[in-house]
Amino acid sequence: APVLLWFRQDLRLSDQAALAAAAAEGPVIPVYVLDDETPRQWAMGGASSWWLHHSLVSLDKALRDKGSRLILRRGKCADVLQALAKESGAERVHALHHYEPWWRNAEKSVANALDLCLHDGMLLLPPGAVRTGSGGIYKIYTPFARAMMEQMPPAAPNRTPATIESPASWPDSDRLDDWDLLPTKPNWASGFHADWTPGEDGARANVAAFIDEVGDYPTARNLPSVEGTSRLSPHLHFGEVSPAYVWHRVTSSDADAETFLKELIWRDYTHSQICEMPTYGSENARDDFDRMDWRDLREARGDFAAWKEGRTGYPIVDAGMRQLWATGWMHNRVRMIAASFLIKHLLIDWRHGAKWFWDTLVDADYANNSVNWQWVAGSGIDANMFSRIMAPLTQSEKFDAGDYIRQWVPELGDLSDDVIHDPDAHDARPKDYPAKIIGHKAGRERALAAYRRIKG
Ligand code: FAD
Repeated sequence: APVLLWFRQDLRLSDQAALAAAAAEGPVIPVYVLDDETPRQWAMGGASSWWLHHSLVSLDKALRDKGSRLILRRGKCADVLQALAKESGAERVHALHHYEPWWRNAEKSVANALDLCLHDGMLLLPPGAVRTGSGGIYKIYTPFARAMMEQMPPAAPNRTPATIESPASWPDSDRLDDWDLLPTKPNWASGFHADWTPGEDGARANVAAFIDEVGDYPTARNLPSVEGTSRLSPHLHFGEVSPAYVWHRVTSSDADAETFLKELIWRDYTHSQICEMPTYGSENARDDFDRMDWRDLREARGDFAAWKEGRTGYPIVDAGMRQLWATGWMHNRVRMIAASFLIKHLLIDWRHGAKWFWDTLVDADYANNSVNWQWVAGSGIDANMFSRIMAPLTQSEKFDAGDYIRQWVPELGDLSDDVIHDPDAHDARPKDYPAKIIGHKAGRERALAAYRRIKG
C-alpha cells in the first residue's frame, strides 16, 4: 500500500526526514492540505498565502523532477487525510513534528484514525531536548542558548532520496489556482518578487549568498540601511531549508558565525516557549498585564491606522511599516522600534500589532511573532521591561537609518542625515509628511502611568 507524506511548514525535499522514511517504505503520495479551519484565528494571513502559493509551485516541480507530484486538497486536515487514505488504500502517514498548538491538536486527531509517524527536523533540536541541570525547561533565552550550544552542531542533514516511487494510480488533486492564494484587486504583492524567490532553490541561493556576509553580521545586522542579515526567515518558516542545513553551511566558512547562530537558536527558544505555553499568541504570559488599561481601539482607531500605513510622523517607524507593506518583511531592529512605538507611545494592546504582522509578514510565524511581541511589550516570560521605553528618534540616529528612511519614505528623500531622523525638531518637515501623532515625552509618560497602575 502507498504511504501518505503530509507537508505543512516543511516544504522541501532535502533533509526531510518524513520524505526519507516514506520513500524507504514504498509508493508515496505527497499531499498538502489547505486548512483554514484547524488553525482558526491563526489561519494564514495575506502575505503568507502569497508565499505559500509560490512555494507549492516550487515543491510540485521538485517532486515532478523525481517522477512524483504534489496532491492538493482543501479542508480540515484530519478529515482530508482520512478520506485520502481510504481512497488510496494508505494506512500510514509520515510528517514532521510541528509545534503550533493547532498542529499538535491536529496530529492527535490524525493519529486517532491513522498510523501517524512524526519525525524531527523543524528545529535544531526537538523542544524539551535542552534542559536545566534539574531537568526543567529554561525560561530565559541566554542560559537556554548556552546549554543548547553545548549540544551543537546538529546532526548532519540527510540527503534527498534519489527516487520517489509513485502509487499505481494518482488520487485527484485540486488546482492550485483555484485556491485563490494570490491577491487580485488590488495586487498589493506586486513588488514581492523583486525581493523573494519562495521555494527550496530560492532558500538555498539565499544561504549561499549569505555565507560571504556572515563575518560582517555582528555589526551589519543592526543597521536597517544595510542588507546585513540573511533574510532566511520566510524560508525557515515554510521549512524550505532545515535549520540544520543552515547551521552546517554557515559554519563551513572561515568566518566567525557565532552571533548569527545565536539568532538561529532564538527560533528554537521561541518554539520551546509556545510548547510550554500554547496560548502565547493570545494571552499575556505575565498575569499583571491582564490589568493593563490599553486604549480602546475605537478611540485609538486613527492612531492605529496611522501606524499600519506608516503615517505616524516618526520617520523610522513609518519607513518600517511601509517596508512591511511593500515587501512582506521588516528589518529586525525596526520591528522592535515599530512594535515598541505601538505598545508604548500609542498604548495599544500588543495583540493588535501582532495580528497586523500576522497578516502582512511573509515570515509570519506563531512562535517567533508571539514571543517577540510579548518580549517588546514586557508581558513575556523572558521580556524587556515595559518601563524601558525605546526612543525611536534616538534609535534611528544611533543605527544610522538615513538611507533606509529615504528609501521607504520618499517625502523625506531630500533630507540630509542631520535632520531626517526628526524633521520636526529642525523645522525641516515637508508639507506632505505628517506631524508626529504624539510627542515622545507625552507618549512615554502616558505609558509609564498606565504601567504604574498595574503595578499598584
Ligand atoms: P537573521 O538576522 O539573518 O536571523 C536568522 C534567523 O534567525 C531568522 O531568519 C529567524 O529564523 C531567526 N531569528 C532571528 N531573530 C530572531 C528572533 N528575535 N526571534 C526568533 N527568531 C529569530 N521572526 C519570524 O521569523 N517571524 C515572525 O513572525 C517574527 N515576528 C517578529 C515580531 C517582532 C515584534 C519582532 C521584534 C521580531 C519578530 N521576528 C519574527 C524576529 C526577527 O525580526 C526576524 O526573524 C528577522 O528579522 C528575520 O530576518 P532575517 O532572516 O534576515 O534574520
